[in-house]
Amino acid sequence: MGTNSSQNQIVRLLIEQGTITEKQYEHAQRVQKKLSVYQPLLKVLKELKFISDAEIKATIQSSSNSIRIGDLLTELGYISEDDLQAACRIQAESKEKQRLGTILVKQNYIDEQLLIEILSIQMGFPLLDPSLTEIDRELCQKIPSKILRSHCFLPLKKEDKHVLVALADPLDQDAKDVASRFLGAPIKPALSPRITLENLINQICKHPSSRTRYSGIKAGPQSAVGIVNEIILQAVANDASDIHIEPLPDRLQVRFREDGVLAHYKDFPHNLIPQISSRIKIMCQADIAEKRRHQGGRILFEHEEGQLDLRVSIYITVHGEKIVLRLLNRKQQLFDIQSIGLSPKMLSRFLENAVYQPSGVLLVTGPTGSGKTSTIYSCINTLKSPKVSIITAEEPVEYVIDGIAQCSIDPKIDLTFEETLRHIVRQDPDIIVIGEIRDTYSAEVAVQAALTGHKVLSTFHTEDSIGGLIRLLNMNIAPFLVSSTVVSVLAQRLLRRVCPFCATDTKPTPVQLQRLRCTPADLEGAHFKKGRGCSKCKQTGYKGRIGVFELLVLDELVRNAILEQKTSYDIRNISIKHSGLITLLEDGLLKAAQGTTTIDEVLRCLPNLSNPRSLGEIRRLSGL
Ligand SMILES: [Zn+2]
Repeated sequence: MGTNSSQNQIVRLLIEQGTITEKQYEHAQRVQKKLSVYQPLLKVLKELKFISDAEIKATIQSSSNSIRIGDLLTELGYISEDDLQAACRIQAESKEKQRLGTILVKQNYIDEQLLIEILSIQMGFPLLDPSLTEIDRELCQKIPSKILRSHCFLPLKKEDKHVLVALADPLDQDAKDVASRFLGAPIKPALSPRITLENLINQICKHPSSRTRYSGIKAGPQSAVGIVNEIILQAVANDASDIHIEPLPDRLQVRFREDGVLAHYKDFPHNLIPQISSRIKIMCQADIAEKRRHQGGRILFEHEEGQLDLRVSIYITVHGEKIVLRLLNRKQQLFDIQSIGLSPKMLSRFLENAVYQPSGVLLVTGPTGSGKTSTIYSCINTLKSPKVSIITAEEPVEYVIDGIAQCSIDPKIDLTFEETLRHIVRQDPDIIVIGEIRDTYSAEVAVQAALTGHKVLSTFHTEDSIGGLIRLLNMNIAPFLVSSTVVSVLAQRLLRRVCPFCATDTKPTPVQLQRLRCTPADLEGAHFKKGRGCSKCKQTGYKGRIGVFELLVLDELVRNAILEQKTSYDIRNISIKHSGLITLLEDGLLKAAQGTTTIDEVLRCLPNLSNPRSLGEIRRLSGL
């Protein structure tokens, strides 16, 4: 790499306009060649202080030919050429039309803030971060709140004959037309972050909520109420999945689970422990007086940006009550099945042989926090249509999807799993989602439903895909039932993504090679990366996560192996040799070789049950 058309385009413009001289250009090229780690030429020119951001911006905007967003991002050094190509592939494969920028954000290659900054440079629209006070409410009232929400825009103020309108997507011609129609004036578009606009729209169009139970805005910061609110709100802001509040001999420690890893948030003085735990117990309707037994509960937490559902577990330790709050309905995007990280061949097999099969059991397996539920939701999202009836029994419902019947199990009111499953089949469903198969009863319900022509989606707690089959057999489901109803088992993990802002090239160490059971020759053609740590990734070197998968499709050979009651070792070998199974380790290795995740993550998260094949072979099997 080093030169590409866009680079030449921008650099050529800079030379043409006299912003940099031919000499400076050659000097920068020489410097670039000497760097041990590749840097785009623009970045080198900037570091040599030959050009400034403002000059780059002016150059791009003055160009009569528009420069594509992907090229801009690569050239400015925000994403790698590989990332760009990966995103282009997703764009090409995706059924719905998606903008490249949207895909890059969805896939965590860049954050939205960066995208809109670059878009504003590319399109010449001003970038605004409006606050509530700057907005002309009279203008807003001309437009129904439903329209504001669905198109995500806000009129800000009148400017001569125009109205300045902040849009999340200024390329959305529809939104611009609608805005102009309601406002009765031509509009002048500006760009604003979607989240900012959504918040403002919510505040402007707020209707009184009668369900408020715990408001995150009242109470002073020093009170237990204030502290607990602050902890929860901060966890929401950090997009944490869990909050750990644990008493230590000398203090109360609070940590958040972010991207699957615990990170220290804050310590509080020891004397606050009783007040804080009492406050949480009140919120989740647990028994305040009980301090010697484990307890659980739920909290419905209202805050400015919406409603949050928290599951609470109070566990008695030698130092006192350790409290874990799980944030349930976080603002996560529901991922399109195309973009959860399945390699091209695995994706098409998964869709053809599992998701689009008219009946049968589809299992997704992995430990807690491996993204199983998200994958199931992606499948539901792909399958839902006005022509099919989808019904779920979940404990609890983690995302609410429009148009399907979801039931949250609540043993506290005797709405048990068993009870729910008994009723589910009578609801005349086409597709049944069972949150988790955890006992013989739920396994039987799943198998029976599949036998009677239903499609069943469920999750399972097992290490790998073959383990899922073996677990079912161990639950006393007859081998012929397993082999005739289960259509596929997808095992998965979430690995942390290398931070795109501080990624550098790296090579595996001899110890890593040994642990991977690979030779350097096996990994030929790999581009391993590692984040150095920067402000954008809180110095961790990681940002966001990516799914790693192992797809077992029950073809003739695998079904026979089950009927013959072969060992998991045998079934695994058959699947790898003859049924195109790519193991979790191999898929992880592939993603590390693309620089998406690191070797450390592969070794930390993935089971190493058999020697991986060479990278070339894995690529071929993955359709890359
Ligand atoms: Zn970083």
